[in-house]
Amino acid sequence: MKAKVKTFPQGAHIYELKGDTAAKNIVDTSPPEEVVIPLQQHIGAPCKPLIEKGDHVKIGQKIGASDSFVSAPVHASISGQVTAIEPRKTSLGRKVLSVVIKANGQQEFAGELRGFRDELPDGEQIISLIREAGIVGMGGAAFPTHVKLSPPEGKEIDRVIVNGCECEPYLTGDHRLMLENSEDIIFGLIAIMKALGVKKGFIGIEENKMDAIISMKDASSPNQNIEVIPLKTKYPQGAEKMLIKAIVNREVPSGGLPLDVGVVVINTGTAKAVTDAISNGIPLVERIVTVTGSNIKNPGNLRVRIGTSFRHLIAECGGLNEESGKIIMGGPMMGKTQHTLDIPVMKGTSGIVLLTGDEAAAAEPGPCIRCARCVDVCPVNLVPIGLANCSEHEKFGDLESLHVLDCIECGSCSYICPAKRPLLHWIRLGKAKIAAMRAAARNSTSSK
Ligand code: SF4
Ligand code: SF4
Repeated sequence: MKAKVKTFPQGAHIYELKGDTAAKNIVDTSPPEEVVIPLQQHIGAPCKPLIEKGDHVKIGQKIGASDSFVSAPVHASISGQVTAIEPRKTSLGRKVLSVVIKANGQQEFAGELRGFRDELPDGEQIISLIREAGIVGMGGAAFPTHVKLSPPEGKEIDRVIVNGCECEPYLTGDHRLMLENSEDIIFGLIAIMKALGVKKGFIGIEENKMDAIISMKDASSPNQNIEVIPLKTKYPQGAEKMLIKAIVNREVPSGGLPLDVGVVVINTGTAKAVTDAISNGIPLVERIVTVTGSNIKNPGNLRVRIGTSFRHLIAECGGLNEESGKIIMGGPMMGKTQHTLDIPVMKGTSGIVLLTGDEAAAAEPGPCIRCARCVDVCPVNLVPIGLANCSEHEKFGDLESLHVLDCIECGSCSYICPAKRPLLHWIRLGKAKIAAMRAAARNSTSSK
């Protein structure tokens, strides 16, 4: 009898739309003439610039850092001259103080980090290297990795999971990385397991990537402590809570984190970045970005210097089919719509999805027909229509008691709704208002 493939309860079966790029090798983009490197690219404190306008910088040179523990330094991704340190637009929807570097056409490396080619350093050194290399979660959230690897007193971590699901439609960068850099991902996982003193590691991959499952099994086979787990292709299988439930059958409590159930989850790109830092002393200065969708001429998976503009990547991919259309940073389910191509790739930019105007046109929402399909798909057992209604009518007390803050913003409810109600839009708005009200209450208490 065939073993049942692991997964989580509920969730949605969605269009995958990965065919345009899944079989395309990762290619290097031509070096940009200019990069714009935001000094805040992650959750946590922004960095302060360590250089001045006019300075000459080299690849891998630390150009921004913060004393705050929840922060990650940023590094120059090209060599050249700093032409400005000023607020610039980012995909976060606001301007962020950024370092602008004009390329000098050279490939000069700073070599500030020490690599350990032959033997892994001890756990503390691994975490310190990861911090110095500016490594963050590269699946999109961009949470500083050294913080994840430093659980508070009393929290025991006994499992590390590499997230190879890439369950968002269109995106294939993680898939290609697992095919082309499988051994580096395993090395990064082993380093993280050593840093945490963990004996068991997993790599979870959806079944629609059988070649990646085989490749990762081959790469991990000498190590008995690492297991590759094929998972059902279902959205949002790659969300941390869903992945943990499917692989180790533990449930992250409401308002909790993976470390509350003894698990650390890292993305494939993060594991590769850890290897680059530890083996070669290279900080996080580049990442893989899938550039795809109906409105791009030659979709592909690109290796990109952090700070390269979206516009440069579009040109590398042959340009747009039509000038208007929709630009999404990330995947279409959880990504953010952008209004310009003149924004830089950041550490958390997994993809750029470009859709034609016709394809992107939003359907007119109709009245709710009370079918409960949004409830059936919600992976964290919420009542999306109830949340959306409370948010729309500004009933924020009710919204909180319906556990809106547990919403992982996966978008399954909006996707499945036959009436095309913009459920996630209202839920996000409600969450943002609650967060703003809490911040205001904190400020008024602290100023008393
Ligand atoms: S309510 Fe939140 S978690 Fe539930 S389906 Fe909608 S977006 Fe996903
Ligand atoms: S899926 Fe749409 S139509 Fe059905 S109950 Fe939810 S909001 Fe209403």
